[in-house]
Amino acid sequence: MIYFDHNATTPLDERVKEAMLPYLSRFFGNPSSLYRLGRVARSAIEAAREQVAALVGANPAEVVFTSGGTEANNLAIKGLGYSLPRGLAALGATEHPSVTESMAFLASQGWCVEKLVSDRLGVTSPESSLCLGATPLRFASIMWANNETGALNDIPGIAAVLREKGTVIHSDAVQAAGKIPVNFASSGAHLLTLSSHKIYGPKGAGALVTDRAVPLVPLIHGGGQERDLRGGTENVAAIVGFGKAADLALAELEERRGRLIPLRQRLESGLAEFSGVTLFAREAERLPNTVQFSLAGFDGEMLVMLLDRHGFAVSSGSACSSTAHDPSPVLLAMGVEPAVAKGAVRVSLGASNAEADVDRFLGVLQGLMRTDSGLPGSCAPRRC
Ligand code: PLP
Repeated sequence: MIYFDHNATTPLDERVKEAMLPYLSRFFGNPSSLYRLGRVARSAIEAAREQVAALVGANPAEVVFTSGGTEANNLAIKGLGYSLPRGLAALGATEHPSVTESMAFLASQGWCVEKLVSDRLGVTSPESSLCLGATPLRFASIMWANNETGALNDIPGIAAVLREKGTVIHSDAVQAAGKIPVNFASSGAHLLTLSSHKIYGPKGAGALVTDRAVPLVPLIHGGGQERDLRGGTENVAAIVGFGKAADLALAELEERRGRLIPLRQRLESGLAEFSGVTLFAREAERLPNTVQFSLAGFDGEMLVMLLDRHGFAVSSGSACSSTAHDPSPVLLAMGVEPAVAKGAVRVSLGASNAEADVDRFLGVLQGLMRTDSGLPGSCAPRRC
């Protein structure tokens, strides 16, 4: 199988697995215990905190480990929602469901929630926040990089505008960190979400990087772990793995980027030759590994299934439920026609991919275009 879905998740790096193994066996102590076995686990967590902080130019004291990006987004948004006086909150137009649904929850609790507008490339401009008028904007959540198109928002630019108004800024950097340089200290953001399994680390670990001056109410009380912001005995092995994955991502960032950009270009140039192709957000500043496209006459879910039969793992651009087969809200927010958005397929490249994989993919697609049409397919949900 050729794996082309690295924005959904990445395989565990062997070096990460090696770093984790002792904490799944010998070093099983509770990090809160005072004896040696506990202290070993505690120091491993603190070393991982330094590694994660280094990846995004943060202070280790600012890193709060969570179970992943979804929890970190919930902690940021609900944590602010419970600690700030109720008022106006804003979110980007192309956010992940863990942001949109946390914001919807706050709206149900009396917050006024506004969606910012994106341009046709899926980019939120700093100016769009100015449209919110005279009401003070208490906080905003705007993603660093989009998971479907790979389009980047200018977080430092947006933060510069919003900080002037006293707005707290959260950015979901799950897809950006480890793929492009992300610097928390200079970004102007107060809160930053990270996830381990998008950077060849284990699933079930993530972090919210927090400016300690920002008041946050925890979602999980009890035990005092993670500086009282996230109670519960730590998932030591996963945190150690996250730290190692962050360390490798930082050391290899330029090398990984340098390998992925030509691959992405090869894929895009090949796709651009196809008749009826739409390449989404192509002119936007983007992640080095992400290409989203649609082929006229093809349903996205159907194409995913057909490609699976030919040994390729890719994602469609829509989120499905048993009753609905809706086009991607991200593409709709960019002004893409629903019929075109329904055809969207995302390829997200990664460490194991080579030119030959891209060429085979293009060949298989060409073959499918000759033999198949976009009949409606069974619906495989994807929300990551
Ligand atoms: N935010 C974005 C942009 C994502 O792509 C994902 C991935 O699914 C998440 C948040 C959620 O992260 P996690 O899978 O670690 O909960």
